[in-house]
Amino acid sequence: MLLGVMVIILGIVIGSFLNVVIYRVPEGESLIHPGSHCPHCNEPLRGKDLVPLVSYLLQGGRCRYCKERVSVRYPLVEGLTGLVFYLGYLLLGPDWVTLTGYFGYASLAIAIAFIDYDHQIIPDGLVVFGLLWSTGIRGAGTLIEGSPFITLDALWGLLAGGGMFLLIAILSKGGMGGGDVKYMALVGYATGLTSVVLVMFLSFVIGAALSIVLLVSRIKGRKEAIPFGPFISIGWLLTLLFQEPMIQWYFLNLGIG
Ligand SMILES: [Zn+2]
Repeated sequence: MLLGVMVIILGIVIGSFLNVVIYRVPEGESLIHPGSHCPHCNEPLRGKDLVPLVSYLLQGGRCRYCKERVSVRYPLVEGLTGLVFYLGYLLLGPDWVTLTGYFGYASLAIAIAFIDYDHQIIPDGLVVFGLLWSTGIRGAGTLIEGSPFITLDALWGLLAGGGMFLLIAILSKGGMGGGDVKYMALVGYATGLTSVVLVMFLSFVIGAALSIVLLVSRIKGRKEAIPFGPFISIGWLLTLLFQEPMIQWYFLNLGIG
């Protein structure tokens, strides 16, 4: 119980950092300097303004200094990250190597989803971070649990994810971007062959369903590009959390007979 609460708080704090990543990385700005400030009045934010979720709620969603509305995006990303971390703790714990890996992947998936939605780009730096994170987690698994360092499965996953999306990018003539190809290659490397097939399947189903919702609700216009990165992120998160029950359900209901 106490551990669960700590995981939620960790998620909210990491979510607060992800807001900085989402806001600054696409602009090529440093993650550290300058410190956080209000985008409207430029007033530097102090300790009591920076408590994730709490400051937003206590100040009624407004800047303490200029009273301008603060985007609901900030508490949303913080709360979402807290929830996603807690789900991982419930479903993947208490294996701390797996769980630590998951926290990194989930953070990456959330940051990429929002950056791609806002700017239609997936920064190379985040993909590289993911490759290093995945390699580091494998190293920790080898040291702590004696699991194999780089498996053939990871390399097949990388080739399958990157290769499949490269093919789609070529055939769709720009419908799928180079960022999506690199992102999918990373997902394959991080999760292996079986999982990456599931992520691709889910991202297409979710992409089709959500695109219809976005168009019908007129959040996105008919001529506007709908970035694919957020769908990969949702598919990846669902796979990390629910892969085993989904595969079991498939074999029980569809796979036999
Ligand atoms: Zn302000």
